[in-house]
Amino acid sequence: MSDQFYEIKRRKTRPVMVGKVQVGGDAPISIQSMTNTLTYEVDETLDQIKRLEDAGCEIIRVTVENQKSLKAVSKLKAKMRTPLVADIHFAYQIALDAIDEGADKIRINPGNIGGMDRLAQVVEKCKKYNVAMRVGVNSGSLEKDLLEKYGHPTPEAIVESAMRHIKFIESLGYHNMIISVKSSHVPTMIRSYRLLAEQCDYPFHVGVTEAGTKTQGITKSGAGIGAVLADGIGDTIRVSLTSDPVEEVKVATHLLRSMGFRKEGVEIVACPTCGRCHVDLEAMVDAVETATLTMKTNMRVAIMGCVVNGLGEGAEADVGLCAEKGHG
Ligand code: SF4
Repeated sequence: MSDQFYEIKRRKTRPVMVGKVQVGGDAPISIQSMTNTLTYEVDETLDQIKRLEDAGCEIIRVTVENQKSLKAVSKLKAKMRTPLVADIHFAYQIALDAIDEGADKIRINPGNIGGMDRLAQVVEKCKKYNVAMRVGVNSGSLEKDLLEKYGHPTPEAIVESAMRHIKFIESLGYHNMIISVKSSHVPTMIRSYRLLAEQCDYPFHVGVTEAGTKTQGITKSGAGIGAVLADGIGDTIRVSLTSDPVEEVKVATHLLRSMGFRKEGVEIVACPTCGRCHVDLEAMVDAVETATLTMKTNMRVAIMGCVVNGLGEGAEADVGLCAEKGHG
């Protein structure tokens, strides 16, 4: 594909290593997802991890909510190609133990880990073993004093909470942080990331939390993650869907491609069709998309329903198909 198109300039961030994958710095924006199996069902979880990896997922998070899941971490790690992120809530001891089990990154919400003293213990251990940490501040778990000050979880409240934790963690001499300030409310999430980007240079994990079912989740993620990416903000993304996580990876891939952050792979341009279209264009586009989903070749394929825009789009593409009844 030609590189004649406008490119979004990315915000400069500090590089953080998640296992072998760099997030931030000059690394490409990576795609993450999270398994939804019971983590301790190792075979089932590995099966899903393999499907995620095959779809192009680059960092995979699993929930580590109890001792059984904790013991599964090293077994999963032994068979994964991607870095493993241990998702921990409430139990700081599990966070400490997950590092011993080989997690490449610990995801915590400082608002529910049980106080600054426990947070400090997790930070110290991440520092000692050079393990990355995602500090995930969510609008649903803000500190009481901030809720009193701002009335409700405003972007300003979310960012103040994030900066409070960032400063505390920095005071312990630890900087391997990736930050997220998610909300299920898209305008709040967009403004939170924009505000936070003015205040620190840590790489951001960008997503809309609890985005919902496929149609709503894809729309919310496209709007929210898309707006943040359009500002050049974001170093790794996760699309959350109430669906098979492989779908999240597909949507994230298309999102990055559509924003110009992924050059490899086939980009399909197709018209919405109208009364001028005399072929089953949807079936044709579906077939091409399925056949090219995992191709790495950098190309643009235009599949158009008639000559009105077909010739122009075809001329901009590497392969142009302008369909007419009986011929193309
Ligand atoms: Fe309709 Fe042709 Fe435009 Fe497609 S390219 S939307 S068929 S006019």
